[in-house]
Amino acid sequence: MSDQDPRGELAAVARGVRRYLERQETFGLGELLAGGTGASLVPPAHTLPPTPTASAQKPPASAPDLSSSWEPIGDAPPRPTEPRLGPSERVAPAVRTAHGPEVDLFGQAIAPARPDIVEELETSAPLASVRLEEPSLNPIGAAREPILSASLPVIETIAAEVRACRQCGLCETRTQAVPGVGSASSGIVFVGEAPGAEEDRRGEPFVGRAGELLTRIIQAMDEAALIPGVKLDRQTVYICNVLKCRPPENRNPLPHEIQTCSPYLERQLEVLKPRIICCLGKFAAELLVGVKGTIGGLRGRTYRYRGAKLIVTYHPAACLRNPAYKRPVWEDMQLLAREYLAD
Ligand code: URA
Repeated sequence: MSDQDPRGELAAVARGVRRYLERQETFGLGELLAGGTGASLVPPAHTLPPTPTASAQKPPASAPDLSSSWEPIGDAPPRPTEPRLGPSERVAPAVRTAHGPEVDLFGQAIAPARPDIVEELETSAPLASVRLEEPSLNPIGAAREPILSASLPVIETIAAEVRACRQCGLCETRTQAVPGVGSASSGIVFVGEAPGAEEDRRGEPFVGRAGELLTRIIQAMDEAALIPGVKLDRQTVYICNVLKCRPPENRNPLPHEIQTCSPYLERQLEVLKPRIICCLGKFAAELLVGVKGTIGGLRGRTYRYRGAKLIVTYHPAACLRNPAYKRPVWEDMQLLAREYLAD
């Protein structure tokens, strides 16, 4: 049994509680959580909303909407280069007030860090910059002439690299690689799947039965003057494939083959600067639209691929197997023409 006066003991406990409460008021919960080591609670500049004003020290009637000012639209300042903090090191934005306690920009006492919320804010920044960086639409008409001249030597260089390529197993079974045919003249690019037997033999895309149908489709577009004033044939459009070499027995392209080969297509599109890309079939569509789906589900809409518009239609080989696809293909060519002419 204690020989101390129980009232004295109670008074000591009360003094301790009062000291604790005073200490909490002086330093704020954030600093207590930081262990009083003087560790900075101010996050790196790129996670900070705009500089707080004096009014931020008082709790506002309602939290300000920072969404419009979080990432400026227009000339955004360069992002700081400080090393990124790990989730456990990130804390909510802090403001030291004259009274001691630290409050956030909403005037609320700082709560323990919520890494999930910080993550959300940080991931919103690249999305905003994607919006800012969306390139303007590639030109049509006379403005395509410099694109055509600049593209000719580069397209030849890429073709030479494709012919010499040994980056995947298809180089062992091909007769020759099939880089592409045509030009940047009209600003229309057709992208198929992979060369077949006839293409492999001749080194040119879409020259077998499916190719003959594609050539007729392009001819029909020209005859119907779908794009008035723009000559459409195998020389004025560009025709190429996702894979530049024939898969044995015309099997489907394998994911690693697409991954290895697609940089050639990307470079071709970069230099051709098409106004519109037409994906022929599932493999081109899934690669360039970037989603999995059926042609029935993907066609009929207009997508963007860098400075180009992009549409999806059935592969000519599918039309040969099922002629009912020819009508939707023609509708898609009409969509292509409308989108080509529209801003
Ligand atoms: N099918 C394609 O996808 N490309 C060709 O070049 C020929 C047939």
